[in-house]
Amino acid sequence: AEQTYDVVVIGAGGAGFSAAIEAKKAGANVVILEKMPTVGGNTLISGGEMNAPNTWVQKAVGITDDSVDLFYEDTMKGGDNLGDPKMVRILAEQALGSAEWLRDEIKVEFLPDQLFQFGGHSRKRALIPVGHTGAELITKFKAKTDELQIPIKTNMKAEKLLTDAGGKVTGVEATSDSGQKITFHANKGVVIASGGFGSNVEMRIKYNPTLDDSYMSTDSPGTTGDGIIMAQEIQAAITNMENIQTYPICDPVTGVISLVADSRFDGAILVNQSGERFVEELERRDVISQAILAQEGKYAYQLWNQDLEGISKTIAAHPDEYEQLIKEGMLYKADTIEDAAKFFNIDPAKLQATVDKVNQYAKTGKDLDFNHRAGLASLENGPYYIQKAVPSVHHTMGGLVIDTETRVLNTDGKVIPGLYAAGEVTGVIHGSNRLGGNAIADIITFGRIAGQQIAK
Ligand code: ADP
Repeated sequence: AEQTYDVVVIGAGGAGFSAAIEAKKAGANVVILEKMPTVGGNTLISGGEMNAPNTWVQKAVGITDDSVDLFYEDTMKGGDNLGDPKMVRILAEQALGSAEWLRDEIKVEFLPDQLFQFGGHSRKRALIPVGHTGAELITKFKAKTDELQIPIKTNMKAEKLLTDAGGKVTGVEATSDSGQKITFHANKGVVIASGGFGSNVEMRIKYNPTLDDSYMSTDSPGTTGDGIIMAQEIQAAITNMENIQTYPICDPVTGVISLVADSRFDGAILVNQSGERFVEELERRDVISQAILAQEGKYAYQLWNQDLEGISKTIAAHPDEYEQLIKEGMLYKADTIEDAAKFFNIDPAKLQATVDKVNQYAKTGKDLDFNHRAGLASLENGPYYIQKAVPSVHHTMGGLVIDTETRVLNTDGKVIPGLYAAGEVTGVIHGSNRLGGNAIADIITFGRIAGQQIAK
């Protein structure tokens, strides 16, 4: 069977939705192909937080000293200056516009008076969608595509990019779940928005042998690098592939990212089996992950109290995750520090000594052990929450090489006509390490650019 559109978008995550909506608004006839039975990808199961400087929420909470330059510098530094400065500059300059577009055009609701400060950021600048997950984004994206009558073909796996004699990409060969082959012709071109390769263990090992199957993954099962492989078949360039991020705080039973543990951004501490802190809790994800893997048993415990829950409200936001962790015995609510320590066989006196120091540092505003950048919070009052956690594969920083218009480049550095890419499938933004809240900023910003450019 054959179908013809102006634009074919591969992948119904945040990048694919953004590209499809912008292309459609610019007048193109668009289709989205999604290989899973449902839309959303990693965007759906993420926390959904999005960084932008100078937002309305920063104004509302009195943060007046953030800037495009600071966001740019944090992002470059967070990736060890391996990101492409031109691309990071675009991200920093356009993130605010992307956030406003989500709010005004897609009708995404963000909390009006709360922000997260993820590791590596020098300011609190991550907007939080209601519900604290990507579900808010994907639900609203889906509603918008329905309104714009953009068809989404689920259970439709893109397998091959088609090119004409001149090398221009002219369509996609796909297979439905019933095994039917369908050719989607694309008059203007194809946007690859198929996400990363965190769920593809073989591909992980190929580019970074340390991230073998001893690691679980936080990722959606659809995250298998298909877009990278398909594009390589027509000589697309790839870069930065060895840089694969683990998320430090995941469920030791399932590998799933813990969003309840986002209380860390408001002052929850990390301790090891000896009840001692071992890293600054707002360090970069790669640094915290490595620090955890260096501890006895290669796991950590996160500890916080009800006062902090009152600020972060992460348990209130994620009741299902909370219940699951309790059931698994990976999270425990304790009246006292002693009680919390005993549940996980930590020496109560040692944990108490750690907490006493933290309380002291909270008073003076100076963490003499790890220099917590936001200043520690008091853990004097119970009840407490203590949670066991391990690092798990989360984000693949490497991928396709794109230019500032999101055109995919080949191994000679030349544009492949008709081929665009955006989102986690690309490899030029985050360098060695993507900062928290920067994925949504990236996929929306460059997804929109891809949609606008391809429709031209
Ligand atoms: P991003 O954050 O870059 O938008 P996501 O992981 O959110 O990435 O979304 C990527 C989507 O692409 C997922 O829903 C995934 O199932 C889908 N996908 C991956 N490979 C294919 C493929 N070969 N054909 C169609 N869809 C794909």
